[in-house]
Amino acid sequence: MEKVTMDTLINYAKRYGFVYQGSEIYGGLANTWDYGPLGSELKKNIKDLFWKRFVQESPYNVGLDSSILLNPKAWQASGHIDSFNDPLIDCKACNSRHRADHLIEAHDDQVLADAMDKAEMETYIEQNNVKCPSCGAQKFTAIRQFNLMFKTSQGVVDDKSQDIYLRPETAQGIFLNFKNIERTARLKLPFGIAQIGKSFRNEITPGNFIFRTREFEQMELEFFCKPGTEMEWFDYWKKESKQFLLDLNLADENLKLADHDESQLSHYSNATTDIEYRYPWGFDELWGIASRTDYDLGRHQEVSEESLEYHDQETNERYLPYVVEPSLGVERLFLSILHEGYTEETLENGETRVNMKFHPALAPYKVAVLPLIKKRHREGTLELYKRLAKHFSVVYDEAGKIGKRYRRQDAIGTPYAVTMDDQTLEDGTYTLREKDSMEQVRLTEAELIATITKNITF
Ligand code: ATP
Repeated sequence: MEKVTMDTLINYAKRYGFVYQGSEIYGGLANTWDYGPLGSELKKNIKDLFWKRFVQESPYNVGLDSSILLNPKAWQASGHIDSFNDPLIDCKACNSRHRADHLIEAHDDQVLADAMDKAEMETYIEQNNVKCPSCGAQKFTAIRQFNLMFKTSQGVVDDKSQDIYLRPETAQGIFLNFKNIERTARLKLPFGIAQIGKSFRNEITPGNFIFRTREFEQMELEFFCKPGTEMEWFDYWKKESKQFLLDLNLADENLKLADHDESQLSHYSNATTDIEYRYPWGFDELWGIASRTDYDLGRHQEVSEESLEYHDQETNERYLPYVVEPSLGVERLFLSILHEGYTEETLENGETRVNMKFHPALAPYKVAVLPLIKKRHREGTLELYKRLAKHFSVVYDEAGKIGKRYRRQDAIGTPYAVTMDDQTLEDGTYTLREKDSMEQVRLTEAELIATITKNITF
């Protein structure tokens, strides 16, 4: 049985201020989404934890923040201008647009459409009577290759302006800076460069809420190693990546490693695995991990005519490093985390509560501070808010009965609530309530800061 439907998640996300439709007051802009007070906190926490795990705690990796706009020659070299395409097909009956590979895979999920060329896909669609998912007709146009890059222009005078592209992945900014970083950070192979940032793809069929959008964020790592050692590192990053997801409390049974077979591999890749998550519609790609050989550095070296070779001081060899790339979408992980955490529970008194079971490190607020009685405890609670906010993100709530306030915090995944009451005025202790167990203990301020800090650490 489906754990939670997409509609429930979309409504939940809107109701509590995680995700709103983009440009809503103008009737929206298709498939754009804005992240509200809670959504922006969750997104930030996801990115911070990725950074912590893959940069701060990694003995190998450093970070980069490169620009979205690159010299167009970079996209020529990387192959994006000529071949970053998806196969577009139109239904002649209702004019709806589709990705031909998705139509085929929806018709039979055992078929690997991305291993087919254009002619093979056309033949398959015709011979297997694949129907239009919008109207059921079987009349399609020929397939055209559609480039996914967003084009824009740079410069103020029209005829002198230059066509440039919004990056469709953050990876190329990393390859362009490989030498800068190797030199200035004085790194020796193997080492990795991580980057988090916006990417843009003019997707033919965006959808499934925030799963596939035209503007999204990626958390990417390009890991550079000596040719011949790449399979070891490919396995290493596969394991590290999966472990990161398990540590964020995604259930093992909702994760699947899907290895690409030879026919599915990009021409530059010698191994690729997708970590798939079980979304409400089934398993789908969350994290792509690819061994990319020396393709990117080789192409940039050729087109820029700058040497990107690594000089191994110990062996005095010069070579282009091989690259292993784990690439993860922030929004796809966001959706997995919402889906995994959303729980409806029936309490002993028969009431239902929504319990959002975020890992405490992901929770938008770590603690809610609540005055038991607004009139008597407001000021003291607001003072406490200020002191606690120096340590972690805090929310103050004085609206309605205390039980209702707890319910709201349960629903948004706040792991702790601290309540001030008359006893606080006497002995300086507060009630600390833990969300999942709903257990309450009385602690001093120093004790509650220590308890919360310990339990929100990732
Ligand atoms: P798909 O097959 O779903 O189109 P892809 O294989 O083209 O994805 P990659 O190029 O490997 O995706 O991108 C790496 C990661 O970036 C993906 O695993 C995903 O998490 C994220 N991503 C890619 N495209 C989108 C998008 N349109 N919207 C949101 N996230 C995306």
